[in-house]
Amino acid sequence: MIIAVDGPTASGKGTIARALARHFGLPHLDTGLLYRAVGQQLVRNGGDPDDPMDALAACAFPESLLADPRLRSEGAGGIASRVSIHSAVRAALLERQRAFARQPGGAVLDGRDIGTVIAPDADVKLFVTASVAARAVRRWKEMRERGENRTLDSIEDDLRARDERDTTRAQAPLVAATDAIILDTSELDRDDAIAAAIAIVERHRA
Ligand code: C5P
Repeated sequence: MIIAVDGPTASGKGTIARALARHFGLPHLDTGLLYRAVGQQLVRNGGDPDDPMDALAACAFPESLLADPRLRSEGAGGIASRVSIHSAVRAALLERQRAFARQPGGAVLDGRDIGTVIAPDADVKLFVTASVAARAVRRWKEMRERGENRTLDSIEDDLRARDERDTTRAQAPLVAATDAIILDTSELDRDDAIAAAIAIVERHRA
């Protein structure tokens, strides 16, 4: 079974995807991490995130980079959303993601374009979303736990900018697949969101 989980930043899609993978005994790929690694490698190379050739060169990142905790920072997410605009970057990462999705037994992948581009034939497609306000509060709490102090307003501004870039780009924009099931987590806590996602998969698995 292939489960595609897409949605905007801080919607809860990563938590839900990990929980689905555990529940159904499937391997999981956080595809955002690949774009974050490209962004970090670009910084190491001294490149310009808006230059397609610099971004493409950064796709040759070492595997060990995927374990770098700095990839989880807000800054790394922002650079990832800039390098992910380039079609050459998306093409360079495509086969790796497709191969993961098509492994025997299936997989859970989360990202922005899993249900639309990477695995359009997924058995279940979830589009996890939440209001900007709810997402900003979650991000603010996470950052506070990591010792990063940011105002709620500035986090909301960043989320809006990232949403704008992810939804309006020409290549594989963030959009729910026509056959995706929308799960709005604005009013749900973590456990309720996971339970809702498991129930959706149980109901809709092919
Ligand atoms: O999901 P995460 O916040 O880690 O993703 C970082 C950035 O990588 C996103 O803002 C998006 O621009 C990009 N991305 C993408 N396609 C994916 C996953 C992430 O374009 N499948």
